[in-house]
Amino acid sequence: MLSRVRRLPLWVGYLLLAGALAVLCLCLGGTAHDAVFSLVTVSSAVAIAVGARVHRPVHARAWWCMAAGMGCWALGDVLYTVVYDVLGSRAYPAPPDVAYLLAYPLLGLSLLSLARRARPGQDVEGVIDATILSVGAGLLSWTFLLRPALAELGGDLLGWVVSAAYPVADVAVLAVLVRLVSATGGRSTSFRLLAAAASTMLAADVAYQAAYAATGYDGFAFDPLWLLSYLLWGAAALHPSMRRLSDPAPVEGGDLGAPRLVLLAAASLLAPGTLAVQLLTGAPLSAWSVVVSSSALFLLVVARMWTLLRRVREQAAQLAELARTDPLTGLLNRRSATAETDRLRSRARAAGTPLVLAVLDLDRFKRFNDTLGHPAGDRLLAGAARAWSTRLSGTGAVLARWGGEEFLLVAEGLGPGPAEQLLAELRDLVPQGQSFSAGLAVWDGAEDVEALVARADAALYGAKAAGRGCTRTAPAAELLSAGGSGGR
Ligand code: GH3
Ligand code: MG
Ligand code: MG
Repeated sequence: MLSRVRRLPLWVGYLLLAGALAVLCLCLGGTAHDAVFSLVTVSSAVAIAVGARVHRPVHARAWWCMAAGMGCWALGDVLYTVVYDVLGSRAYPAPPDVAYLLAYPLLGLSLLSLARRARPGQDVEGVIDATILSVGAGLLSWTFLLRPALAELGGDLLGWVVSAAYPVADVAVLAVLVRLVSATGGRSTSFRLLAAAASTMLAADVAYQAAYAATGYDGFAFDPLWLLSYLLWGAAALHPSMRRLSDPAPVEGGDLGAPRLVLLAAASLLAPGTLAVQLLTGAPLSAWSVVVSSSALFLLVVARMWTLLRRVREQAAQLAELARTDPLTGLLNRRSATAETDRLRSRARAAGTPLVLAVLDLDRFKRFNDTLGHPAGDRLLAGAARAWSTRLSGTGAVLARWGGEEFLLVAEGLGPGPAEQLLAELRDLVPQGQSFSAGLAVWDGAEDVEALVARADAALYGAKAAGRGCTRTAPAAELLSAGGSGGR
């Protein structure tokens, strides 16, 4: 029997043992109930510390912070038992409140640092979404929990502050929980347990506060929820998958999936919904709370739209860039080269300047590939493109990959002489002592891009025939058509 228990995973063993304690607690009453209750909370804090120690996650500090938070909670429960049960005090607020209210920021901070680890840097969308939900939840909390509770307290300032701190802390933990859910992607068992733990804790808090606000109820009815939450916190830390809890989400936080959209829409509708409920039930209207929160929600939704718009713009620019360029060399591709040549033609026509176009073809490139391998050929293509681009930067010339190992160079304002010189310079820049042949054509002021390229191509054949590694200039267009030898 004992060996079977030993073989149980740590987290299951903890759930069984602490679960048994929790059941025992629910069967007891009075001081015994409160004492066993504290024991469960202490066990949860210890379980988190053991988890952090045994599993040694990269983000251990977040888990130690969580252990400290749960430790404060446990201290609160112990103090509660001592102050209210043993000493019989009826004071409010009392020392346990200090411990409880210290627990929230520590637990919240631990969840936040797990979320930040999953998505380091700016996650503006995630923050806006969490704020939208918090404003909605904050309005509900203020209208239905806090205001009635504060009205009851009268002029007791300390009581006011402490009573207000609980719902505010709950809303803050909710915001952090939403951040964590949207940031992490692993969806490990530990993550599910942790999310369930925090949600159960919030549910218990809200149910307790709602019951208290409505009827002044202050009994044990919500203890099962709190106990369950402690068990889940402990189990989340003891589960081995806690190491992978901060794995980032596969889609970015900005992704507006259907569930997130529904949640945000629901949160945004809480303000008018609150007003509608009050109008229908004849309850006093929270007009100003609704004005403030719905204004905040509108602005947040506009901010969210702005981030989406920015994302769409960025993606459109990326797509446009991808459609314009050749992936291997980063140069313009054939399609955009034609458009760019057209643009330079118009400029040359308007300015009355010369325009030259050259087709460059690497020499014996098949042999290069066959000898050194295709990847080496790829590197040569990319290296040549890089070197040429550097040489041509600032000249306004257009360089494009026309296809395979052929490139197009178009320069406005350059005559054939300087163009040939430029091509000779580019030839020296080809890596690994390779060379290219080039066919050069001077635009006749009327022909279209296709005809201009065809003349340069024909000249390229001349360069190849002349032994490669040189440039040949095409005869003027009129001569070519008069001679009738335009083909290859
Ligand atoms: P020539 O001097 O007559 O131009 O000889 P060549 O071998 O360069 O010409 P050919 O047209 O026979 O072969 C072109 C070679 O270019 C064949 C092909 O494998 C290579 N090539 C085309 N595109 C790429 C590419 O993207 N990467 C690599 N590595 N090689 C390519
Ligand atoms: Mg070729
Ligand atoms: Mg070639």
